[in-house]
Amino acid sequence: MTVPTKLSATARLPHPVLFVSHGAPTLALDAAHPTHAFLKTLGPGLPKPSAILMISAHWDTQVPTLTGTVRHDTIHDFQGFPEPLYALHYPAPGSPALARETAGLLQAAGLEARIDPSRGLDHGAWVPLMLMYPEAKVPVVQLSLQTGLGPAHHLRLGAALSSLRERGVLIIGSGGTTHNLHEFFRPAPGQDESYVKAFSDWLRGVLKKNDRQSLVNYRALAPQATRAHPTEEHFLPLLVAAGASDTPGERIHTALTGSSLSMDAYRFW
Ligand code: ZN
Repeated sequence: MTVPTKLSATARLPHPVLFVSHGAPTLALDAAHPTHAFLKTLGPGLPKPSAILMISAHWDTQVPTLTGTVRHDTIHDFQGFPEPLYALHYPAPGSPALARETAGLLQAAGLEARIDPSRGLDHGAWVPLMLMYPEAKVPVVQLSLQTGLGPAHHLRLGAALSSLRERGVLIIGSGGTTHNLHEFFRPAPGQDESYVKAFSDWLRGVLKKNDRQSLVNYRALAPQATRAHPTEEHFLPLLVAAGASDTPGERIHTALTGSSLSMDAYRFW
């Protein structure tokens, strides 16, 4: 019997699932930032994916939507940053077939799904991918959030996607383990930034215990959750990642950007 060498050379299946914090767009160029160095080692350290399904904080739609383009435009969805950032491009191929297949999985799980034939990758997607897979050769499909539908919906989205891992698809949630831009440069008057660590440590414990109930109810249970996440869009990609696996989440990186952006990353097997 012939062993399929392509599979044996690349695959440890099911593929792990990741959550990464992307911080500020400048992470793409800031070689001194520990998360920049971490992401550069993260991609080569994983089994080679057949494709990547990316869930970023920066795409929010009424209905779950997948990018159906053949080749991605790079969306520079930020203002007032250094000019060299706007010169960066990540022209990864898309995968209309994976987009269709993923839409089918969502629909089979009772969720709506649409395909956007022209949207490219926002910076929550391309900044980490540029560091993890700089050659931009792995096909990428991005899936949108529905921020108004909250954590349970996003855990369900992830669960609907989990079978893709058996085919070597790398599912990545990209957001932030804390994300208070009002306190980026300094803590609020009279307060300190210890809440960032308190929230991040709580999250680490919940994921380590695989406590999905607490994860979904984080806004009521976690220390200063609404301060750590004044809005939810940077937290919800973590719910999609967790939903795509049933294992505990292992923290594989920790760092800080500014005073308030926790840059932790998690891996789920
Ligand atoms: Zn962001």
